Parts: sequence; C-alpha cells; structure tokens
Amino acid sequence: LDARLPVDNPFDEPGRLAVSFNALLARLEAAFGELGRFTADASHELRTPLTVIRSVGEVGLREPHSEAEYRNIIGTMLEEVDRLTLLTTMLLELTRAEGRRTAIKRESIDLRELIRDAAGFLGVLAEEGRVCIDLDLPDSPVPVSGDWTMLRQAVVNLLDNAIKHSPPDAVVAIACRTHADLAEITVADQGPGIPAEHLPHLFDRFYRVDAARGRQDGDRRGGFGLGLAIARWAVEAHGGRIEADSAPGKGSVFRIALPRERTLSHPEGTTP
Ligand code: ADP
Repeated sequence: LDARLPVDNPFDEPGRLAVSFNALLARLEAAFGELGRFTADASHELRTPLTVIRSVGEVGLREPHSEAEYRNIIGTMLEEVDRLTLLTTMLLELTRAEGRRTAIKRESIDLRELIRDAAGFLGVLAEEGRVCIDLDLPDSPVPVSGDWTMLRQAVVNLLDNAIKHSPPDAVVAIACRTHADLAEITVADQGPGIPAEHLPHLFDRFYRVDAARGRQDGDRRGGFGLGLAIARWAVEAHGGRIEADSAPGKGSVFRIALPRERTLSHPEGTTP
C-alpha cells in the first residue's frame, strides 16, 4: 500500500504540501524499518541463551546424573541467565539512549580521573588475561563537560574490548591528550586487529566481526555487538567523534575526540 500523495505541480500549494507529506512519510517508514530490525536482532540475541537453558534443562531431566553433572548443568544455566541479564541491561541502555538524545548531564569532568576509574574497574579482567594496562595521562586536568556515567561507559567498552582481544602478556595503552579545542582519548591494543572491510560497520548495533565463527563453534562467550554502538552513542551525544584504526596483525587503536570544556564556564572550585 503506497500512501504517498501524487504531486501534479511541485510549485503550487497542494504540490508543496504533498512533497512535504511524502518526505515525512519516507522518514517514518525508515524509522519503522529501523525499529523492526532492532526488534528482530534483539529477539534473535535473546533466543540464543534461552535455547541453551532449555536444552541443558532437558538433558538434566532426561536421565539421572551424578551430583557433579547436575552442578555442571546448573552452572551452564546460570551462565546463560547472566548473559540474558547483561543483554537486557544493554538493550535497555540503548533504548533509553535513543529517547534521551537532547538532555544529557553537563558536569565538569577531568578525563584523567574518568580514565583512571575505568582502568581500575577493569583491573581484575586485565589481570585474569595477564594484560597490562598502561596509562599515559597529562599532568594537568583535562576538563570536558558532560555526563560521567555515559562517558565512562564509552571508555569502559573500548577498554573491555582491548583487553578481551589481547594475547597474554600484551599491553593495552590508554592515553589522553589535548589538541586545540579537542580532548582525545586513545585505547591501543596489540590484539589481532580488524580487517578493513569491517571497520565501517564496527559501531553499528549488533555488528560482530567474528559473528559467523562464534555461531558455528557454538562459542557463546562472544559479545552482542552492542558495546561499540553504546560507546558511539555516548560520545556523539557529547558532540564528539569516535573512530577505529586497525589492520590485521597490527593491533587496534580506538580514538574518542570530545570538545574541551569551554573556558567561559568555570566550575566551582576552579579559577578562571
Ligand atoms: P561485542 O560486545 O560483541 O564485543 P562490540 O560492539 O564491542 O561488540 O564490538 C564489535 C565487534 O568489533 C566485535 O565483533 C569485536 O570482535 C570487534 N572488536 C571490537 N574491539 C576490538 C579490538 N580492540 N580488537 C579486535 N576486534 C575488536
């Protein structure tokens, strides 16, 4: 069913109205299409852990097992429940993000503090993978104005990926620099790198570089392809940019550039 209005003469009043109406309709259709894809992707991701829980449960009921086997079964089920919990949290975060495009908090943040906090948060993960986090931060504060939780999430997601893709004994280097009116954070790893054809899509929702491989192997530890989408949303909501520079065998560098806090606003406790 095509609801578009016919345009006889695009220059008279009815013609102009019809053109505007058709443009609006096209935008609505695009938005609904996007929503439909989001729902389809999200449902697909939700079904995978549910299928695992169901089949593991069936195996448990089919015949008697030893206590160790039951423990194993329950352990797998709990792992999948954790995955579901994480996924729903991320989906909620993304959905909330869409509706919050305009109003973000504007607190004065020292990016050095934020980076230290994110690195501290992921310290255990790094230790588990025998990855060393190397911080290279300037001596003076790097002030930006924004929402601490959102920006921290962006840095955590980049750092989390860097650690997860690092081989043992590798270094993940986080640096913070200022250039003119920009504050820049880079997260560099010595992991496998990312083939060029994936780079344009990395920040899309549900995009995974190794999706096919993960599925075939039944490897359920892979991510959901949401971390970078959330990071991009957080950075762009602050008027910033996020990009990836990577090549197979060369590691990856992710870069966040944010507008520096304007000198016009002097947060409490600082001198102009
Ligand atoms: P996920 O939660 O699945 O990791 P992301 O959105 O964080 O999703 O990342 C998207 C894809 O980019 C993933 O498939 C991941 O393999 C790849 N990727 C992200 N960061 C890195 C990195 N530092 N090194 C190699 N691949 C990466």
